[in-house]
Amino acid sequence: MPERFNWQIGRPMAYPYDGPQPERQVAYVFDTNKCIECQTCTVACKTCWTSGKGQETIFWNNVETKPYGGYPLEWDTRLLDQLGPAEWKGKRLASRTIFEQATGKDSDKQPPFGHRPAVEDYAAPNVGEDDITGLVEKGGHFAGVHPIWMFYLARICNHCDNPACLAACPRRAIYKRVEDGIVLVDQERCRGYQECVRACPYKKVFFNVVSRISEKCIGCFPRVENGEVALCVQSCIGKIRMHGFLTTRGEPREDNPLDYIVRIRRLALPLYPQYGTGPNVYYIPPIHVPTRFLEQLFGPGVEQSRRLYRGLAGDRRLLGCLLLFGATDRMITRFDVQGEVAIGWNDAGEEIARVPITEPSWVRDHYDEKYDAYRHNTT
Ligand code: SF4
Ligand code: SF4
Ligand code: SF4
Repeated sequence: MPERFNWQIGRPMAYPYDGPQPERQVAYVFDTNKCIECQTCTVACKTCWTSGKGQETIFWNNVETKPYGGYPLEWDTRLLDQLGPAEWKGKRLASRTIFEQATGKDSDKQPPFGHRPAVEDYAAPNVGEDDITGLVEKGGHFAGVHPIWMFYLARICNHCDNPACLAACPRRAIYKRVEDGIVLVDQERCRGYQECVRACPYKKVFFNVVSRISEKCIGCFPRVENGEVALCVQSCIGKIRMHGFLTTRGEPREDNPLDYIVRIRRLALPLYPQYGTGPNVYYIPPIHVPTRFLEQLFGPGVEQSRRLYRGLAGDRRLLGCLLLFGATDRMITRFDVQGEVAIGWNDAGEEIARVPITEPSWVRDHYDEKYDAYRHNTT
């Protein structure tokens, strides 16, 4: 089986498909500290891309409550139970990825290790996650399944470097685009065998029970080709998301916001890097959640990332980069912090975002003579 270097696990690993490396890789950063689980992203994606027959319980974008929530049900804990906890020696993964699980004769012909959820596991996203104990007027209160701490995890397809869905497909109906690394299912070639559904450790390929073929997040490729961010990114109320490209050929660039946050500063981390797929949605970990839990989710960089996040006030370049989240509906491919402003440019070199580092504020007079009104300053 061919080998390729996986920077997220700090070592080479076996991967059964020897495809070309993309010219650049579409990528996302999600700041979990800012997500309010409003589901605006979910609805934006759903109304645009998956409102057809057989798509009633398909959500290419979903947001779930951790530690116990999940869509489809127990998508991650089932696989973790079978694989066991990830073991790291420093930044190097010592345990096996999903591509390395099979051993013995013909192990290189085995599909990636995985499981296929049942149809009903997709039926009720979020139900039971944040419910209160009953009617408020009868004394119901929020005491539920998340004592002490919880956080919201927004999830889309990771457009992985080493997609398990692609490696598993016996029809070669899944492909990774060379121009931007977006992973797509060819709807003409797919025969609905669902090997991709089984193999994707993030459960981000879905089987449409009416059309009888598989489908997944298309990375909003018509928008990306037009220089626009994905719908789930543009619509994000909390401005928790940034969408851009990672440099794949050559060194990471200081002036590329995605390279800077992910590769250079390592503030944002991949989800379950131990699976080995090289996911390209990167998360800024929540600062209030126990490290031991987060290290199983995001790997060994959690403490360093949280130190950076807590020190943002004195780290103006990184802070300026984060302030560009949600500042424009177009893709920023170059940024800089100049004096008191963060500036973003697109591929054509046009300035598309300009954000002050310190939000200006005004203190109004308590009494407005003109309108004979009293005002209260709330910030
Ligand atoms: S729109 Fe943004 S803040 Fe709201 S749930 Fe989605 S990711 Fe979270
Ligand atoms: S997240 Fe799953 S569906 Fe998306 S590219 Fe990776 S393996 Fe494929
Ligand atoms: S990138 Fe586009 S298709 Fe994918 S989850 Fe976001 S809105 Fe949906």
